[in-house]
Amino acid sequence: MLEEARKSVAEFHELIRLGFINKTGEFVSVHMYPPMMQHPPMKGGDIFKGYIPRKNGQFAVYAHIPFCIQQCAFCYYPNVIGASENEKDAYLDCMDREMGICLQKLGMDRLKARSILLGGGTPTHMSPAQMKRFLGFFTSRLDMSAMTQFGCDLDPLTMLGYEGRERMRILRGAGVSRLALGAQSFSDAILKKMGRHHNNADNIRAIGVAKEMGFKLNLELICDYPGETPEQFLAIVKQAMSLDVDEIMIYRLKIIPCAINPCAINKLLDSRPDPLSSNDEQIAVKSMARDTLRSGGYRETLTRVFSKTAADYSHYAKDYMGDQYDTVGFGYYAMCQLHDRFCQSTYDLKEYCRELEAGRLPIMNGLIRSRDQQFRRSLLMPLKGNLAVSKEAYRERTGTAMSEVFGKKIDLLKKYGLLEEDAEFLKATEKGRFYADEIAHFFFHPDLMPFPREQYADGPLNPYNDNETMN
Ligand code: SF4
Repeated sequence: MLEEARKSVAEFHELIRLGFINKTGEFVSVHMYPPMMQHPPMKGGDIFKGYIPRKNGQFAVYAHIPFCIQQCAFCYYPNVIGASENEKDAYLDCMDREMGICLQKLGMDRLKARSILLGGGTPTHMSPAQMKRFLGFFTSRLDMSAMTQFGCDLDPLTMLGYEGRERMRILRGAGVSRLALGAQSFSDAILKKMGRHHNNADNIRAIGVAKEMGFKLNLELICDYPGETPEQFLAIVKQAMSLDVDEIMIYRLKIIPCAINPCAINKLLDSRPDPLSSNDEQIAVKSMARDTLRSGGYRETLTRVFSKTAADYSHYAKDYMGDQYDTVGFGYYAMCQLHDRFCQSTYDLKEYCRELEAGRLPIMNGLIRSRDQQFRRSLLMPLKGNLAVSKEAYRERTGTAMSEVFGKKIDLLKKYGLLEEDAEFLKATEKGRFYADEIAHFFFHPDLMPFPREQYADGPLNPYNDNETMN
């Protein structure tokens, strides 16, 4: 395993030399294309005007519940901390209204859900009665007859005790089948550094509850947290495996934030006495974690998600990134990613409610994608997810073969062993899967790259090469 880790580090340096990874070795996570910061402000306009749903009429559906007990040290999402029960009730009133307005604009009574995700924040930071009410109005507006998975993100404490079990029963009753549990670590010392409000014993008890109640379970762990040694992290991965969960998700701590609230990560860097690992150390730990998981029978299904069986992963993530179903999100800060356009709601809670009370969608920014953006998004989002890109689906989405648009760049990544293809699909190789974000950036428009040209070596894989705007 150590030998493999050494090889991974050598490969990492070679990819920097070739210009594929920027010279600092830092990474920026890709969540969408164009990146969130590039979406123009939009207020009062009707983003749904002229929208024609896809032929299959199915949607990936998201609901955002922004409440958390406290802001974790590493989290840069604009969560709502310490909301009162009345404030949560008022938020639900607004969401209910939002769903009504949105469906009216889409010209539908109910959305045909392909997959559903409840995220946040922490969706289970509602009381059981609030959850019941929310799930009642939410699911009444969905047609779930063709749904393949209903998932919910949650934290361990909200699953425990009488109330916790009640929440789990309510979720089960509404059709939720998969839980993504933010365990983050099995070390009490590291959980404390992370600013989590639960401990290791809570994690173990919550896993027990999830299993007892028959949920598929995804366990989220942060890799190589400041102050944690590689040996400690690998022991945590082994402990996760010994608990026989369905999926284990390994996050690398993001130093360059990709959401709207960089302060938390900056505060973390300023205030934590523990030094960050070097990039070499992070690559070595990631490599050893992957090999440890493989030795326990876990295989990478989506980027950073290791599953015991090939069918266990977030269907919402696959539908959104790989198959690019139109995605409709409800709630403060939620997004709609439709096949030709995008919009996102405000993360100002007062504004969110004010707009809805006035009968308007609380949209903060939006965009109808250009042809160039469509070409790039249709290719790079599945590759970011470590999912195969169907050549036929690409042609259907863009009207053009991917080889016509990106042939030269695809050939380069094939030549260096990062992509492979057959008659039907293009996908990352085993080596390429390790660098899903960088592969995605390779197809970004030069104006949207996370690092300037001079921060990449002038090698054959410099992503700025052969990268013109397409009209
Ligand atoms: S990591 Fe999760 S629980 Fe912590 S603040 Fe962020 S959304 Fe809330």
